[in-house]
Amino acid sequence: MGYSERLDLISSIHIYMEPGCASLDFDEVAEYVAGLLPAAEIMLRDSLLDSWIDDDGLRVLATRLAMAKVRDLNRQLPAERPPLTGEITYEKRRLDDGRNQVYGLLYDAFAFSDICLDLLPPGKTCLEQLNIVFTNQLIGTWEIADRRYHARTIICGSPSIISISGLVEAPAKSPAYYLARRSAEAFGLAEESKVELASSFADDCLGPEDGRLTEVAKGYVMQAIVYRITGEAFCEDPGCRLYNAHWQRELLEAQFGGDYEYCRKHSQMFRRLAKDGKA
Ligand SMILES: [Zn+2]
Repeated sequence: MGYSERLDLISSIHIYMEPGCASLDFDEVAEYVAGLLPAAEIMLRDSLLDSWIDDDGLRVLATRLAMAKVRDLNRQLPAERPPLTGEITYEKRRLDDGRNQVYGLLYDAFAFSDICLDLLPPGKTCLEQLNIVFTNQLIGTWEIADRRYHARTIICGSPSIISISGLVEAPAKSPAYYLARRSAEAFGLAEESKVELASSFADDCLGPEDGRLTEVAKGYVMQAIVYRITGEAFCEDPGCRLYNAHWQRELLEAQFGGDYEYCRKHSQMFRRLAKDGKA
């Protein structure tokens, strides 16, 4: 299947918001996408994880989340692992609370994605519709090379998942940041001080509730869309917003730096899409 046929198949893009991130303006993200893809219908949806309807649904969701939780970064999640009662209770309380607070937990990205897939309304997973789920939770994939989990910014698929905490935590910060953090930790660093520390490195890295997250989210939503169209989410040009940044500096450079938003190839592709809906 060629690019153009694939694009013809996306008629609507549903973005599931994360209510727990106040600094991300989803309306602005949706407007941006609509500007690049005028032929597609862009819909903002309420948080997917809040879509359970009764106690039974809540219990099932809490159990699945508890099973998807990575307990040890150096051990791959077993396919079947009975969750502890305490873990289920914890997830239930968090879901019931509705604020999706982040407590530094990491979930297996593919197990998390499966949970989201099952929460999508029936008929919403067809090829014509692209679903993008924002979450505050950290998601990670098991890497065979060094046999450990790595946090991710985005997992492209059905649905695609963008982790807001991942945008802050997954790409590595500068060595100077880690050095400063280590020495601060040696003196017993409180949670607020960590936020302060991150803001003193603001030129080099994103912090939690960073005002730049809206702009960064636009680039990552486009990665999910381009993945659906071309089968490739990422671009090799470090100046293109589709660049797969491994460092915070690279992420900021790709999303804010340089003279252009997208490389030549992707700019042309978006121009063709805007003109006649063909990639
Ligand atoms: Zn590009």
